[in-house]
Amino acid sequence: MNYRPGRIFLSAPHMGGHEKNYALKAIEDNWVSTTGPNLPGFEHDICQHTNARHAVALSSGTAALHLALRMVGVKPGDEVLCSTFTFVASANPILYLGASPVFVESEPDTWNMDPEALRAAITERLRQGKRLAAIVLVHLYGMPAKLKELMAIADEFGIPVIEDAAEALGSRYSGHQVGTFGKVGIFSFNGNKIITTSGGGALISEDEQLVEQARFLATQAKDPAPYYEHSQMGYNYRMSNISAGIGRGQLEVLEKRIKQRRDIFHFYKQQLGHIEGLEFMAEPKICYTNRWLTTVLLPEPHTPESIRLALEEENIETRPLWKPMHLQPLFQHHPYMGNNLSGKLFERGLCLPSSSNLTEEELDKVVKHLRRLLEVV
Ligand SMILES: *Cc1c(COP(=O)(O)O)cnc(C)c1O
Repeated sequence: MNYRPGRIFLSAPHMGGHEKNYALKAIEDNWVSTTGPNLPGFEHDICQHTNARHAVALSSGTAALHLALRMVGVKPGDEVLCSTFTFVASANPILYLGASPVFVESEPDTWNMDPEALRAAITERLRQGKRLAAIVLVHLYGMPAKLKELMAIADEFGIPVIEDAAEALGSRYSGHQVGTFGKVGIFSFNGNKIITTSGGGALISEDEQLVEQARFLATQAKDPAPYYEHSQMGYNYRMSNISAGIGRGQLEVLEKRIKQRRDIFHFYKQQLGHIEGLEFMAEPKICYTNRWLTTVLLPEPHTPESIRLALEEENIETRPLWKPMHLQPLFQHHPYMGNNLSGKLFERGLCLPSSSNLTEEELDKVVKHLRRLLEVV
């Protein structure tokens, strides 16, 4: 980390206050491992907040995606359609299973999977005789994807949808929480997300058996027997009861965190909206976004890297947009459907400091320097 005192972070952890009560109780009671009362408590709270029927708390969002793909039946040699504009953790678990990602381009309104490109990709891959085992659909930066259109296409072709809502906990589409539209939804509680358990994730579904099976596989797939008996390959993916305690405290303040992040977006927009050529992402009427990160598209001739480095001089952390998967060396030989919109966004976009615990002075400082750098005088 580039840590210097006084640094303004992109997205930092922000405790609500009650986390330490839950975590301390776990330590006092010796429930410090992967069993204990915070785990069912946290899972219950996740269901309450998202209206999911069932949830399992896991060691990371990546683990949740890996289990989700396995639960919907992804097998070696299968293809999985996946948003190209995302963090690599959306796609890596496809490789873990010996399957192969097919990347699908974004549409300009939400930067998420383009329904037209999805249909084209499905049609093309079916024509090649491929088995399409799942769709990994990402809600980038907290903005819900065009779920109505995307789910209709998935249903038409009978392909199960996994919603990667790692960045979008609490965001809503048509009044419903994201993560609850697909067969499976996943969340991340990594340190940079809107709430954190220090590191962790969760898998949610309407399907009780699916969630129970995921829980079974996440704890080394131990068959019921007095000795360790195994008939399936499992994983060590369970969340710890201490982390779950932190999660319970964090969920208590989730709505507050969403409001704070939305307020930060509005502040930036109000303070910088007049700058010629600087673009903010509008919230479609059907959506309510958690505004995990405020992103902007920069006016020419500025580049994300020039602005990032200039702000770094002021001890302000910013980050380029995710580099799309179809442009990653790791995935250079994988199929891709689209017009490289995400590649163009990547060349123009920047994520601004969006931590919910930013002070007014810190936000003023960011705005002051962005104005200095971007305003034409
Ligand atoms: C953070 C993130 C993940 C992975 O979550 P971890 O908890 O860090 O494993 C997956 N997908 C997206 C889009 C993410 O931003």
